Amino acid sequence: MGIAVLLAVIYFVIPKKNKDKNMGFFDWLNPFDNRPYSDNPIDAPQHLISHDRGVVHYAMPKLFVAEKCLNDIADGINTFSRQSSLKAGLFGGGSTETGYALIGVNESDSILINGLLEAGPKAEYSYGHVKFDRDYQQEKLDKVQLVFPDVGHAGDVHLHPGSMNSCSGGDLTTDSGNVRASASKEMVFIIVTRAGFLGLPDRVDKHVLKIKGLQFNFYYLGESTNYRYRPIVPQVVTAPTVAVLPRLEQYFQEHPIRAKLDFEALKKLPDHDFSILKSDQYLVLKIVNKSLGYRLVIKHNNGSCTPTCQVVRNGKVESVSIESLANWNPSIWFTQICIEVEKLMSVKYPKVKEPKNERVVQAYQRQKSTRDFQYHQAISGRGKSRR
Ligand SMILES: [Zn+2]
Repeated sequence: MGIAVLLAVIYFVIPKKNKDKNMGFFDWLNPFDNRPYSDNPIDAPQHLISHDRGVVHYAMPKLFVAEKCLNDIADGINTFSRQSSLKAGLFGGGSTETGYALIGVNESDSILINGLLEAGPKAEYSYGHVKFDRDYQQEKLDKVQLVFPDVGHAGDVHLHPGSMNSCSGGDLTTDSGNVRASASKEMVFIIVTRAGFLGLPDRVDKHVLKIKGLQFNFYYLGESTNYRYRPIVPQVVTAPTVAVLPRLEQYFQEHPIRAKLDFEALKKLPDHDFSILKSDQYLVLKIVNKSLGYRLVIKHNNGSCTPTCQVVRNGKVESVSIESLANWNPSIWFTQICIEVEKLMSVKYPKVKEPKNERVVQAYQRQKSTRDFQYHQAISGRGKSRR
């Protein structure tokens, strides 16, 4: 009798009290761990919430997830479970947590998840916990950021071997700590559970996806929810994914210390923007000198070959004779080349502002060519102009 009353309360009373579309029945089964929702507006910063006829809306971003990431997570978790089942024997196995760090782009009103970082060689796995090897993941993220500077740590995904499809109290401690320490102050957390005896329920909530026999439950945690979990509805997109460039990884393996220090130095050069360009065959470095307005591209094949360099300023290739290339040996850093080119270019183009008139003419010419382009597009019937 008592149980029936309790169930009735759970079914009928609680969901009505909290009119939230993303909140499903299962969310109320874990009142402690999953209490993201609050009717109390004092809980969240005022500028991040709005009120509509007494219902509080938190300013959560839109969430986009690259389809390939979801498939990779499902494949990875299924493989991990199979392997640990085999290891532990037929009856005792398969029941440890595992997971990935999620990486992506956080913009003002959206989060795109487009990459994964493996747990790492020093990760610890147990039934109720997975501790990621954060040093390993940070190292990988640094490498990804050399090519994709906008990408950052966007959250984590982990498997709960049982049926608990929401974040645990332990998860909250770990996750809120990470989020508070992050620049974006918000992240996405995915809890994956396996199909049980009865398989996956057909009707699941909007914040849940079913992929390859697994159930993915999406939660948001951030400043706008006062560091509580909130279910968030993902939009699956076919965006390209990001990962460490194989050619870059190879370079790091061949020259671990040099690569680390040289790239660190390049990143810290004042007035320079440094990145790695995508290439399978070469290691290609792009360094932009902002005040002298040139771009240096260094293309490197392997340790013993002399790199090739190209300096481009205002669309024209500059001829510069670089001594460190003439006397190339593998102990010469890319940073050295970069500093030498800056010296040469600052002699060639002392930092004098271009005369105003010249800039006006240039601006006009740019405008004119854009208009010509639009005109040609219009008359060739190719549709709208780009701008
Ligand atoms: Zn957990």
